[in-house]
This record gives sequence, structure tokens and C-alpha cells, in this order.
Amino acid sequence: MKINLDKSKHKIVIPEENYFEEAFEGCPFCGSRSIKYIGNIHPSPEIKIYSDFLNIIGTILSNRPSPDIKIYTCNNCHIGFFNPQPTEKILKEFYTGYYMGDTKYTKYTKIDPRRLASHLTKYLGNLSPRETFRILDFGGGDGAVSQCLGQYLLSSGIAMKIEISVVDYKTLTDRRENSISQYSYETLDLIPLSDEFDIVIASAILEHVKNPRQIISSLLQKMKKQGIFYARTPYSFPFYKGFKKLGKTFGMPYPAHLFDMGSYFWSDLLKTLNLSAGFRMKESHTSLVHAEFRKNPLLTILSYLVKLPSYLVGKWYPFSGGWEVVIERKI
Ligand SMILES: [Zn+2]
Repeated sequence: MKINLDKSKHKIVIPEENYFEEAFEGCPFCGSRSIKYIGNIHPSPEIKIYSDFLNIIGTILSNRPSPDIKIYTCNNCHIGFFNPQPTEKILKEFYTGYYMGDTKYTKYTKIDPRRLASHLTKYLGNLSPRETFRILDFGGGDGAVSQCLGQYLLSSGIAMKIEISVVDYKTLTDRRENSISQYSYETLDLIPLSDEFDIVIASAILEHVKNPRQIISSLLQKMKKQGIFYARTPYSFPFYKGFKKLGKTFGMPYPAHLFDMGSYFWSDLLKTLNLSAGFRMKESHTSLVHAEFRKNPLLTILSYLVKLPSYLVGKWYPFSGGWEVVIERKI
């Protein structure tokens, strides 16, 4: 089954009550009971139910009361989360159609892979040439970002061969072209335990997974010594709070996003996971602007303006919209 979700029109999809997990009583990331309720995404005038989604779950939702979806932040690890969350089954249906589908929204949500790959090269540091460079692209779709990065590493003489492992709901046929091999896995635990990677990419994916703590820990453990982990996540809950104070609504993409991971979450991450001894936070700052000037000049200028204070005062400024980090595995 495929969901053709035009997300530019439908920001929020509320599944039927049976398709929710039990509500969390504490923080789903660190387990702390000190969580702060910041609002609710239902009822809201922006909620739309997409008909194809209803076909999948086989009910007519509009005649039923929808469950309350609450928004919290954790006072301990600073993750933001929606509560309750949908079941894995619903999420899988949602993503196999949504991100890989040919939707109008795709052009707004996806960064040009060449641009993101070029951005990543800045964080690689001084790499010594090696025979094989291994990339793990978690939630990497068709692997386009890793392919671009691989091309760069080959052309700059850093590596002779590139091996890419892509983890995504929708798996593709393994392929080998020139010196780049790409393998596809549906879940992270299917990657052989002995596989270690020079770079691990988790770009705009951790907010979508139901078990981010387990996933982040696994991704970090898959890095070689001196390997690099890059993550990019949304940091939009401060906008929600700001809009709410002004008496306005801020559309939350549910269930596309389950978590919000901003500056405070990332700055405390290694401490939260008790991994400070083995890993080092190399970069932590506002994320790359999505929009490109030649395609959407107004949006690009607005994005830079909104993020501007973040470049100056770093994590203290909450309205950056997205955050990115680079974590290095210590020798
Ligand atoms: Zn927490």
C-alpha cells in the first residue's frame, strides 16, 4: 500500500485510536519523570485527515473522537516529544509512501543531495588516503547524499573504493558502479555487527524514529575510531511555544515528526548517554538552510534572517528551526 500524502496541504494526520501506543509517563529518551507539558496539537483548525490514510486503517475518523496528542519537553535531556505516538505499522505505511513518493512536498523537505554532501565534506577534517571509505546512511532513501559524498572522496583521491550501507524502510537493490558499492538494509540491526564506518549520516531522520536513544547509541557504536557522526534534526518546539504565547497556532507535522531535538538536547547528549569518555562533540550549531537562493530567493533570505541570531549566540537562541551536530569517536 502506498500513501500519496501531499504534505503541503496536510500537515497533520491523526490515526485512529487503536493505532496509538500507550502514552509515555516520563521522558521516552532518558526516562526522567520531570517532563513539561507545553501544549496540544488537537483540536486544531489545521488538522486534516487524508483519505488514503483512512483507507489503510479502514475507518472513518471524522465520526470518531480523536485522541489528544500532547506536546512535552524533558527537563533532564531536553528532547521534545509528542505523546502518545503512533504504532510502528502506521509509521511504516506512512513513510514507505511519503518520503519515497512523488509528492509536491518532497521538493520542500529534501535538500539537494549534492549540496548536503558538499556541506558534509567540511566536517571530514584532514583525512588520510585509504583503500576503502565506508559510509552508513541511516534513513538515506536512495543513498543519493552518500553517492555524492563518495564521488567527492574518489575524485579527491582520499579513497580508492567506497562502500555505502543505506538503512531505510524502502530497500533498493544492491548495486556497484565504478568504485562505489551500495548495500540496502531495512533496519539497522541487519547490518553485520563487524561492519564499522568512517562516516555515519543521520540527516533529518532521528525525529521520525520511535526509539531515538537506541538508534543514536547504535549509530555511534558503528563508527570507527576517529569516525564522524553527522545528524540534522528539527528544532521547532520553541516556535510552537512562541506562537502559542501570541495566541497563534504553529502547524506540527504529526506523525511525520515524533521528536524535536534542539541545541540543549544535543549539547547534553553524550552526558545523557554516558558516552563522554569515548566520543567528542565536534560541531553543534544551527542547521544548514534548506532553501536555495536560485530556486526560492524569498524563502532563502527569510531562513537566513530567522537563523541569524543563532550564528551569533549559538544554543541560547531557540528559533533556529533545525540543529546539526558532528560527533567524533575518540581514538
Ligand atoms: Zn529526557
